[in-house]
Amino acid sequence: MLDSVRVRLTLWYTSVLTLVLIVLALITYFIFWRSTLQRTDANLSELCEAFLTTLDAEVKDQSGPDSLKLAGQVAINEHRFRDHVFAIFDDAGNIVVSSQDVPPVATVNGSSVSGPLSSPSFHLFLDASSRSDRLFGRVKGGKSGYRAFARRFLSSGKTYTLVILQSLHAQQEMLEEVTATFAWVIPIAIVLASVGGYFLARKSLAPVVAMSSQAGRIGASNLHERLAVQNERDELGHLAQSFNSLLDRLSQSFERQQRFMADASHELRTPVAILRGEAEVALSQQARSLQEYRESLEVLHQEAARLTHIVEDLFTLTRADAGQYPLQPGDFYLDELVGECVHSARTLALAKKISLHFEEAHESPIHADESLLRRMILNLLDNAIKYTPGAGRVTVTCNRVRDEYVVSITDTGGGIPAELQPRIFERFFRADKARSRAENDGGGAGLGLSISRWIAEAHHGRLELTRSDSTGSTFTAYLPTGPFPSPTGS
Ligand code: ADP
Repeated sequence: MLDSVRVRLTLWYTSVLTLVLIVLALITYFIFWRSTLQRTDANLSELCEAFLTTLDAEVKDQSGPDSLKLAGQVAINEHRFRDHVFAIFDDAGNIVVSSQDVPPVATVNGSSVSGPLSSPSFHLFLDASSRSDRLFGRVKGGKSGYRAFARRFLSSGKTYTLVILQSLHAQQEMLEEVTATFAWVIPIAIVLASVGGYFLARKSLAPVVAMSSQAGRIGASNLHERLAVQNERDELGHLAQSFNSLLDRLSQSFERQQRFMADASHELRTPVAILRGEAEVALSQQARSLQEYRESLEVLHQEAARLTHIVEDLFTLTRADAGQYPLQPGDFYLDELVGECVHSARTLALAKKISLHFEEAHESPIHADESLLRRMILNLLDNAIKYTPGAGRVTVTCNRVRDEYVVSITDTGGGIPAELQPRIFERFFRADKARSRAENDGGGAGLGLSISRWIAEAHHGRLELTRSDSTGSTFTAYLPTGPFPSPTGS
């Protein structure tokens, strides 16, 4: 059950709400209690002043040693309310007069009242009152206790203390009522809020549930389907949009992968068909001369070499895509490497009567993967010779421009049609399919430029077709001269 976000949200929400309500109830209770106490104190203080005024007036009317006692009884009779206890003490702490001596309060149902004036807490309060003119305090007794106020006053040159006690029963009852109200209001509020919270969470999460079931239905066969975006400005809308763009990228990469597989199997089918055909012909004829067998074997060998070449290229690209082609960088001179490549291509050029030139370059030290750069330059040279008709010219240069080495291979071939130029670095793309295969000895699957571009990029450089028209083409590789940034295959 706790695995559901809805339930977890509701539990969190309910816990926080419960805490807030309890804190709120405690604060309310405290404020209520404090204001009740303040009101009681103000009331006691007022009552005390009124009592003393009456007492003062009555003392003047009385005479004799008991004048204060008599005046006190009159004042008590005048000011006594049900909940109040009055008492006057002399300086020695002896009681002069108190409302508990005055009938009918002193007895209830014929028995004497053991009132608050006899409680130990009252004596403590009385002791404390002798140290200050006015004192508020709490005295135990009765059901709920008393609020006590002591006020010292002078009468006939002597100091007395007037103590008034007010029962806290009514206040206590009020506070109990407040507590009882909280006791049923808070649980009802929590139950209502958690039920509402649960439905709210369910409603808010409904689009997520819908998205998840929709996403669960999307597979390889319906990768084109997208999640419905209800409100593109809210968080769930953003989530759906991000998921949709992830699906876009996935479907593009899936399509690329499918195209790659289809193209690869198509490219592999041709040499395999030639191999099978040639072998079948050689085997079907009973009496064949040695020369004929030799010719068949040569065809088989040529096609096997072509097959190996394609498989190797495919393997390189697959590993490069997966970021698993480990570069093995070392220190060497790029100009020397270019010179060696030109030298290797010389036989190929000679066979087509193409003049091959390498313009002498300055020393170009570089830290890179030598065998990969050799492969790139040979690919470009191979293409230049392959796509340049006989008696043409191929020129190779290697220069340093600021912090880059620039290797250019220019031929005098027929060029690449402008509309096809943006596509020549795509995998399996051939501008002129028939020609590129017919004239090719060991490749021509349209992978050479893709691999060459990847090699340049793996070295944090780039490979571009810088010019191509009817007078020929120039391919240029730009490689950083500086420290090789990271020796990874990505
Ligand atoms: P391929 O194995 O077919 O040569 P590449 O990837 O090396 O594959 O080249 C892709 C296509 O680009 C070639 O089929 C060809 O049509 C075109 N191309 C490459 N280099 C040249 C060039 N120097 N001159 C004219 N066309 C070229």
